[in-house]
Amino acid sequence: MNPSLPRRVFLLSLAATGAAIATSAQAQAMVDEKDPQAVALGYVSEAKRADVKKYAKYAAGQNCTGCALYQGKAADKAGACPLFAGKQVAGAGWCSAYAKKA
Ligand code: SF4
Repeated sequence: MNPSLPRRVFLLSLAATGAAIATSAQAQAMVDEKDPQAVALGYVSEAKRADVKKYAKYAAGQNCTGCALYQGKAADKAGACPLFAGKQVAGAGWCSAYAKKA
């Protein structure tokens, strides 16, 4: 038996696991409020910090979990939003594209 084969298999498994972890970490990256897209949309990770002078449409009680674009579950602390591809928004967050869930 070739003794290097199990080692190669192990190293390939390790590489695959590392790639999976890296992909997972990327998927879980949170939107930074300073990202240009976040700034453009007035995104804040806590809805209560929404700039009400700039975004009069904000009303107390609105947040990402109640937004039609939020892809997480209502109880999730964070979830995906199509406006921020590859990142997650805070469930308690808010942005000016908020659209109440039907
Ligand atoms: S579009 Fe909706 S889910 Fe996405 S960041 Fe804005 S309020 Fe949150």
